[in-house]
Amino acid sequence: MSQATFVKPTLQEIQNFEGNYPKQLWYLFFTEMWERFCFYGMRGVLTIFMVDQVLGLALSDKDANLKYGAIQAFVYAFTFIGGIFADKVLGFRKSLFFGGMVMITGNLIIAFSPQTMFYLGITLSIIGTGFFKPNISSMVGDLYKEGDSRRDAGFGLFYSGINIGALLGGALCVYLGKYYSWSYAFLAAALVMILGLVTFAFTKKHLGPIGDSPLLNLDESSRKKKELMVYIGSLLSIPLIFIMIKNTDYTDMFMYTIGPLAIIYFIYEMLKISSEATRKKLIAALIFILFSIIFWAFFEQSGGSLSLFAKRNLEFNLLGMHIDPNVINNTSNSLFVILFSPLIGLLWVWMSGRKIEPNTVMKFGLAFLFLAAAFYIFYATRFYANELGITSLNVFTAAYLIITIGELCLSPIGLSIVTKLSPKHLGGMMMGMWFLASAYGQYAAGLLGAGMSTPDENAGLPEKLIAYTDGYYQLSIYALIAGVILIILSPVIRKLMQEVK
Ligand code: GLN
Repeated sequence: MSQATFVKPTLQEIQNFEGNYPKQLWYLFFTEMWERFCFYGMRGVLTIFMVDQVLGLALSDKDANLKYGAIQAFVYAFTFIGGIFADKVLGFRKSLFFGGMVMITGNLIIAFSPQTMFYLGITLSIIGTGFFKPNISSMVGDLYKEGDSRRDAGFGLFYSGINIGALLGGALCVYLGKYYSWSYAFLAAALVMILGLVTFAFTKKHLGPIGDSPLLNLDESSRKKKELMVYIGSLLSIPLIFIMIKNTDYTDMFMYTIGPLAIIYFIYEMLKISSEATRKKLIAALIFILFSIIFWAFFEQSGGSLSLFAKRNLEFNLLGMHIDPNVINNTSNSLFVILFSPLIGLLWVWMSGRKIEPNTVMKFGLAFLFLAAAFYIFYATRFYANELGITSLNVFTAAYLIITIGELCLSPIGLSIVTKLSPKHLGGMMMGMWFLASAYGQYAAGLLGAGMSTPDENAGLPEKLIAYTDGYYQLSIYALIAGVILIILSPVIRKLMQEVK
């Protein structure tokens, strides 16, 4: 259909789609897929670039873990800010576009000179992801009418897209970085992000009114003025974020402040709502969000301590194939998500047919039980180690399989429940809060990882193996406790959720 004759679909037309998925989901799927390529490509090389003593930042394990946690924490903390500005000023589409452009610039800057430009480029990646990430997920939620039972499946599919991007990015950028140059790794991330934005630019007309500016009632010039202020404000924050990630002490201060501020802002918005039923749903959403912090703190060892563990303590052998353990560390989770997400979706549908599908709270509880089992297996890798401290990549990968099943009980379900429990005018903010929880998770992940690393940088591999696996044992116990608490609390949370399942 030519541009001139194209008629924008209405919201109703979009939401009354037939079949399992609306076609717009596929467009968002591909846009997000390329964005996650860029993000996970960058994330995959982060710690190994930082500890590279010659061509990287020459940091110690401990500092790299802390810095990794700080960077990831900032990335996800900015989603809260990106979500609010999308709700109030930009709308999801413009936010996403702006965020994407900033991410591209950030990665290009690092590619130009990784050692000198790293912090500036990462600062831009942080701001860019903040504007991009929560808002595309909110748009997925908007494709569905309230009560449409196909929403969870939609998020499941979207989550596969996320992970296809993460898999390709994690593999390619790590490979380029480790075997060619760090510049190529960041350049690949930037180029692929351009692909994401092009996909969005060509397909956004099919989204009808979804993601439009919330200020369409204002005249054009005052709307533009407000938008410009958001763009300028976020660029002005560059020096501030730059300083805070360079010095992890400031990260601590930032993290101590942003969470309480977010909660205060949440309460302020909640009190403005007159319906008690809506307020209760928001509280239920907050409980899910708070529990997800613990989940991500453990899960996100993957980019930090598990990445270093993979670099040093694992053999290059998976089921008889010679393979780099860092590539496995960065890709197996995504691969398992892609394989198992549709299967688990079918399992829920099958269980629902027999009226035995666990509700959202139970799924969250199960997620923690799987998490506990996975960390027990990471701990158990020590029993397969040789005298040099090198252990089995097969067992390590099995742990990733289990942790992924846990993730699938929590992460896509969490995205979906946040869109179900949030009133429309707070959609961006609530999605931002969901990811802000990941920020705290990431931050705690860095601290936990640093706590697990041996104080002596020159310790032998067997000592490093024992130090990290001791840590994994403790995480396993705490995950188990969190799961049990959640299951015990389930009747209370379900009451708050009312008719939402
Ligand atoms: N892996 C998922 C994503 O990239 C979830 C990340 C998170 O919330 N921490 O979207």
